[in-house]
Amino acid sequence: MNLVHTISEVRSQVKEWKKQGLTVGFVPTMGYLHEGHQSLIERAAKENDRVVVSVFVNPMQFGPTEDLASYPRDIERDCGICEKAGANLVFNPEPSEMYAPDFCTFADMTGLTDVLCGKSRPVHFRGVCTVVSKLFNIVAPDRAYFGEKDAQQLAVIRRMVRDLNFDIEIVGCPIIREDDGLAKSSRNTYLSEQERKAALILSRSLELGKTALQNGERDAEKIRQIICDSINTEPLSRIDYVEVSDLFTLERQDTIKSDVLVAIAVYIGKTRLIDNFTFNI
Ligand code: AMP
Repeated sequence: MNLVHTISEVRSQVKEWKKQGLTVGFVPTMGYLHEGHQSLIERAAKENDRVVVSVFVNPMQFGPTEDLASYPRDIERDCGICEKAGANLVFNPEPSEMYAPDFCTFADMTGLTDVLCGKSRPVHFRGVCTVVSKLFNIVAPDRAYFGEKDAQQLAVIRRMVRDLNFDIEIVGCPIIREDDGLAKSSRNTYLSEQERKAALILSRSLELGKTALQNGERDAEKIRQIICDSINTEPLSRIDYVEVSDLFTLERQDTIKSDVLVAIAVYIGKTRLIDNFTFNI
């Protein structure tokens, strides 16, 4: 497996593979990899001849008061995980490789990005769409793999690929969790021991919502209320949002008639965690 830092190195390697008629899978990440990322890389390795993983903490998708500086980084450890999972190339660029000092072209979206995480993170999805477009142009993969953990991001990327005609298949992969239910996340490393226990309130509260749906409840407000009431029993938690949305348009639902995304964002102490499940009618 190769670790490279420049766009030209990625391009020449991928060109070589394409010349040989090999298919290329791509897994974009911000690094500090865990079993969630690993599952994406393993799936990409199963479904493609070669796999590229990008490790890039993209400054453009962080707001001015967010955790860009403190975001955990460990490229050596990441490379070990990539290699074990079946990656062939890791692309770890410096921000200056990705953004010229006078960079001024963006990929942006309306609607889908105005709700859920987009509401509390106003510049986030413009940064995500821009960097993912750039990475798609650099890597030119056949398939790209994204986690359902970031359900809104997956919906946004699918829409962008459709709207801008990227010739890339987007593959959504299931959420990987710790044994006790907490969704794996690089940001879990921010949690103190006490906060780590408190963070279980996210998956537990979602389970209560899911059970109500499975028992036939179709009033979205009641589902929201069940989840909010449960989260509020945890003193270290503060709700950012609890939403029941159409799985594809992300529009807020009143009565559940189609497949829905039940998504939450909750602060545990200072750490903002997200989790979700989808429910198919
Ligand atoms: P990140 O490094 O947080 O930007 O995540 C890179 C990719 O890994 C995204 O497509 C995420 O949705 C995905 N991912 C992160 N955590 C998980 C998880 N627990 N299960 C599945 N996919 C995940």
